[in-house]
Amino acid sequence: MSETARVAIVTGGARGIGAATARRLAGDGHSVAVVDLDEADARQTADRITAEGGTAIGLGADVAEADRVTAAVAEVAERLGPPVILVNNAGVIRDNLLFKMTENDWDTVLGVHLRGSFLMSRAVQAHMTSERWGRIVCLSSSSAQGKRGQANYSAAKAGLQGFTKTLAIELGKFGVTANAVAPGFIETDMTRQTAARVGMDFEEFKKAAAESIPVRRTGRPADVAATISFLTSEEAGFVSGQVIYVAGGPLD
Ligand code: NAP
Repeated sequence: MSETARVAIVTGGARGIGAATARRLAGDGHSVAVVDLDEADARQTADRITAEGGTAIGLGADVAEADRVTAAVAEVAERLGPPVILVNNAGVIRDNLLFKMTENDWDTVLGVHLRGSFLMSRAVQAHMTSERWGRIVCLSSSSAQGKRGQANYSAAKAGLQGFTKTLAIELGKFGVTANAVAPGFIETDMTRQTAARVGMDFEEFKKAAAESIPVRRTGRPADVAATISFLTSEEAGFVSGQVIYVAGGPLD
């Protein structure tokens, strides 16, 4: 349990890494707003947190839509108090080789990851700066270093690293830190989708991936949630503008 309970927003919190992070932050003592495309899905995570003894609400919003983001952040502030922890986790993939990638594939991925993180951060910073305390964590990826079939996703995840460092520079004087967490292979619906695209059984896909990971296993949502828990804690106040790879080993 952290020393001080705060209000946190986790985008894309209905499942995968976002759901694990929402539960972990609630376990740290924070009130959590789970924001996801579908309100009923967001509420499921919130209900689970409530059943576990935490405080949470679920809201439906597309993070790439400015009006929905403004409304969702206002609702969180009204129902839970000023949000001062933000985890920009919502994400999608639209993988394809460059020559087959459509403009829609490009715009969708850049829209959710980059525009979504921008809109959410801009809306929430008003609360953080007035509270003189804040923690922003953006989900980057090992794909930021380049990955076949992911020109759109790699560009978004590399872009998020520059975005995060800039937030760290601009908001530091208000007691706000901004860091990026860059997972490698994590077992979620997103990696299940990738396995399906390449025509592999998920267990076989995981096993093959684990062979090239130094700790010889694939990651779990809780591995990422634990890192985010530290970065959003009181004691992480002197860690800002960093990219932490949660990938079971160093990257090339
Ligand atoms: P996931 O299981 O696919 O969950 C992503 C969540 O984001 C879903 O609930 C999804 O809702 C939601 N979402 C998508 N678009 C949204 C939007 N416009 N507004 C609000 N919510 C939206 O993904 P994950 O694997 O947990 O990944 C979470 C984050 O970690 C992503 O940013 C991803 O890029 C990053 N990451 C994942 C891995 C990995 O190996 N899994 C590795 C590196 C980085 P719907 O279900 O309704 O679509």
